[in-house]
Amino acid sequence: MDGRITQDAGAEDAPAPATLLAGYQGLTGSFSARAAARGGRPVGFPSFDRLLRALTASEIDLAVLPAATRGAGAVLEPLEAIARLLEAGGPPLAVASEIEVPVRLVLAAPHGVAAPDVREIYSQTPVFRQCTKLLARLDAVPVETHDTAYAALRVAELGGTRAAVCSEEAALEAGLVVLEEDVSDVRPNATRFWAVVRGGAGVEPEIRALFYSGARLAAAVADAGAEILALPGRADAPVRGFAVVPIRLLSKVSGLSARAAETFVWLGPAPDHVPPPRLKEAPRATEVRPATVVTAGAFAVGGGRRAVIAGPCAVESPEQVMRLAKAVARAGATALRGGVFKPRTSPSAFQGHGLDALRWLRDAGDSVGLPIVTEVMAPSQVEPVARLADVLQIGARNCQNYDLLKEAGAAGRPVMLKRGFGTTVEEWLSAAEYILAAGCRDVLLCERGIRTFERTTRGTLDLGGLLAARSLTHLPLLADPSHAAGRRELVPGLARAAWGAGADGLMIEVHDTPESALCDGPQALLPEDLEQLLDEFGLLPGPTDSVERVRRAIDRVDAGIAGLVSRRLALCRAVADTKRSTGRPIRDEAREATVRARFEEALGADAPNAAILADALISLGLEAEGWLPPAEGSLAGGKRPERRGPTPVVPPGPPTLPRS
Ligand code: PEP
Ligand code: MN
Repeated sequence: MDGRITQDAGAEDAPAPATLLAGYQGLTGSFSARAAARGGRPVGFPSFDRLLRALTASEIDLAVLPAATRGAGAVLEPLEAIARLLEAGGPPLAVASEIEVPVRLVLAAPHGVAAPDVREIYSQTPVFRQCTKLLARLDAVPVETHDTAYAALRVAELGGTRAAVCSEEAALEAGLVVLEEDVSDVRPNATRFWAVVRGGAGVEPEIRALFYSGARLAAAVADAGAEILALPGRADAPVRGFAVVPIRLLSKVSGLSARAAETFVWLGPAPDHVPPPRLKEAPRATEVRPATVVTAGAFAVGGGRRAVIAGPCAVESPEQVMRLAKAVARAGATALRGGVFKPRTSPSAFQGHGLDALRWLRDAGDSVGLPIVTEVMAPSQVEPVARLADVLQIGARNCQNYDLLKEAGAAGRPVMLKRGFGTTVEEWLSAAEYILAAGCRDVLLCERGIRTFERTTRGTLDLGGLLAARSLTHLPLLADPSHAAGRRELVPGLARAAWGAGADGLMIEVHDTPESALCDGPQALLPEDLEQLLDEFGLLPGPTDSVERVRRAIDRVDAGIAGLVSRRLALCRAVADTKRSTGRPIRDEAREATVRARFEEALGADAPNAAILADALISLGLEAEGWLPPAEGSLAGGKRPERRGPTPVVPPGPPTLPRS
């Protein structure tokens, strides 16, 4: 909470922002009125319920309510009023800020009354809770009033052997005499007020608080380190109250809600990132187990699912990342990358635009429907980055930064661990163990080039190491040809090599004006190069308004099919030669049925007429093999391949071959 409490300077209250109406419960002269004056023009209300009604009805801009005192903790009455509103499904609220007001309570009575004579003490219940020693000492009955200023007035009005516990000003205002100063149990005493505002879109409160009900949840929230302000229980919810959650604990605490059947209401926007509960035991990196499939939204990699993460080295501006997001989505990439914290060899090189850039990256990813991947360089960056990013990247330079690995592993996001340029495969997998041991199941490994004696490339893409790692780990393995190559012209070749070697995915840097890129321009592919490469790999183009873009992909497929058909025909000729030399008949109906079944199974629902294609290929094959159809009516030859399914547009069956 450090730095988020507005300290009341004392009697000279800071001038209030005159335009805001700050409601409080009580009379002028009360501590609440003083706190409200710090938030705006104070407006008194007779009860907390009425005050909150005024807030939700927009009669006031904020409601200033006491939440906790230094000595006695939660101030129950106002918190109960907020709880009632939330439990009734009231409108969203947020705690805009906290205002701490020093509280000096005095015992005051009319002229001529001495402390030992006092038989009735007037004050508020929360105040009585802070003055237990005074009450124990005096032989007097506490009498409850709405606020301390009213207590003083009431005592002055009724007279007799009555006294009030209130502020010194309220006592003097009411014409009472101070009998004892500073009567609270805790000295110096202070009350923390919450400035509560209407919540909803666009409200970014300084204080994150949540309302909880349920003993288990309360214990878990307290365990995570949040400050608990407990309210008396109810039969159906034995523990209820509020938790004040420092920013650094937000994701940890919000993650608990997934486990809880109990009520969990944020005062203010719920944190962006709700990590799953920490796993007691994540598998080991080198355990023998089925391949791990890491998912983030539509992105899935591992166990036969393949991914391409593409984007600029660094997020340079909202416009740049939005343009490139569209380009990589159109190319068919399955995730968007972009560095916002850049590890640079020189401290004078561009270091990244930080969390602002993360917001631009998030917006760009959202606008094209791609999850985002970005690097964290320090443990302190993990929590704020995890709130917005889908996958955390640990860079090569930090492969063995164990504090960072532990922090990232506890963030509740998939983590992509790049291999350090000086780490062995074994050290790389051991580093991954740190992330898994911190409770993260979703670890991706990325080979990005190691340091060798070779100087023609930036690194040496160690595909041998990647393949060796394949048999050692169940985790998805990716390759980054961009950082390994350091030169654009080498990237497609290395990408093909890695893809062909069976990498589960690739990470590729892309820029549309690489000559002016702030980082790694020389190795960035142009969007059109990426497009070609991903078409080659068979990824589907993403959203585009260009028919030509999709036609280019279709043309590539057609060229591939034509090439394959021509190879198939050459093989048919070869098999025909073998059949002739071994005396086997050219036609084999069982074999034709197998071919047809393969096409039907592979194309399935996509192509109910797949048999047409199979039949056409069989016919072409027979033609290449020189098979002669039998004369009409003859029983000597085989059957014509059967027609299947609805009437096809292209007539199936072997063509009638000219008889020689
Ligand atoms: C990056 O991906 O931009 C990066 C800095 O990579 P590496 O850590 O592999 O150098
Ligand atoms: Mn880079």
